[in-house]
Amino acid sequence: MAYSISSPVNYDRMASLGEFDFIGQFLKSQAAQGQPFFDSPFALGIGDDAALIPPLPAGEQMVVATDMLVEGRHYRSDVDPASLGHKVLAVNLSDLAAMGARPVAFTLAAALRSIDQQWLSHFLKGLFDLARSTQCPLIGGDTVGLSSDAPQSFSVTVLGAVPQGGALLRTGAKPGDDLWVSGSLGDAAYAVSRWVADSKLDWPSPRLALGQRLRGIASAAIDVSDGLGAEVRHLLVESGSHRSVPLSATIDWQALPLGASLRLALQTQSISEDRARVFAATGGDEYELLFTAPVSEREQILAISASLALPLTRIGALVTAPAKECGISWRDPQGQPIRSELAAECGQGGFDHFKS
Ligand code: ADP
Ligand code: MG
Repeated sequence: MAYSISSPVNYDRMASLGEFDFIGQFLKSQAAQGQPFFDSPFALGIGDDAALIPPLPAGEQMVVATDMLVEGRHYRSDVDPASLGHKVLAVNLSDLAAMGARPVAFTLAAALRSIDQQWLSHFLKGLFDLARSTQCPLIGGDTVGLSSDAPQSFSVTVLGAVPQGGALLRTGAKPGDDLWVSGSLGDAAYAVSRWVADSKLDWPSPRLALGQRLRGIASAAIDVSDGLGAEVRHLLVESGSHRSVPLSATIDWQALPLGASLRLALQTQSISEDRARVFAATGGDEYELLFTAPVSEREQILAISASLALPLTRIGALVTAPAKECGISWRDPQGQPIRSELAAECGQGGFDHFKS
């Protein structure tokens, strides 16, 4: 198979490697490259029965998350392997970001039909480039062979650290809090709808620096993997049940930050404004952070946005809801509900589900 990226490995050498050598030697040597984790005498990576993690600095606690990508369900068989390698780690780092955690290390479980060394070397290039840039080394994993018709899968477990008691949770949102989102929305889903490549879809950037800066400022946070509306509802349900206060959100439809391709499509009139906003309100695979914060934190949040050069947009607010009306109310700039057909498309489902 020909891929448009440059070959990261010497195939002549690899051609002579067997499966266990490939995993043991090739993976091991690359995993440690450029990783300060291994400076500690207490660190142990790939090669033994298990890995060893150096003690965390005093006052920190460990964070763990797992996410897997399955062929045919989360990615197509003809995916660029480098982007897949990037993505399987990125989606896990995004979970750490949403907890306000810093990365420590990760493991990789791979279920493969065969050891296709060329494909795997590209996969590992995408994986290790992100691992190095986020200082999150691969320290172990498992590899199993599949029958020739089984879907391949990759599962990452990432370990991170946060100050004790300082993690950002889904349960902390309060009535009156502002609702914010990082970056822009909708481009990944728009790309999927047109079967085209997209940097957001294929090379998501976990918002790790933002998550860590939001500790002590945001009251709750979640990453946008399933779509804005769905994630807002998760926050409402988790925070509402935690405080035993039914919560609802009002979201300013016009304030949703549209992705660059959606803005371009609007300019060229290849999409209507409403359609573009439905993509932003419902599209998954964004890996932006959605968070709530007290009104008193507005200036601080804008300062973080400036210092990270990352747009942070205030898209709405949380309000207490009559018990049967938890959900999202999408509003136009005049504060009126948007057309009911549009609201229904944006998964006003929360309302419907809890109503009558
Ligand atoms: P065991 O049978 O003891 O589990 P394995 O042969 O599965 O040993 O693994 C040998 C070493 O290679 C272990 O350190 C393991 O963590 C590592 N390893 C195996 N597969 C992977 C993988 N996909 N990614 C990273 N490390 C791996
Ligand atoms: Mg094993």
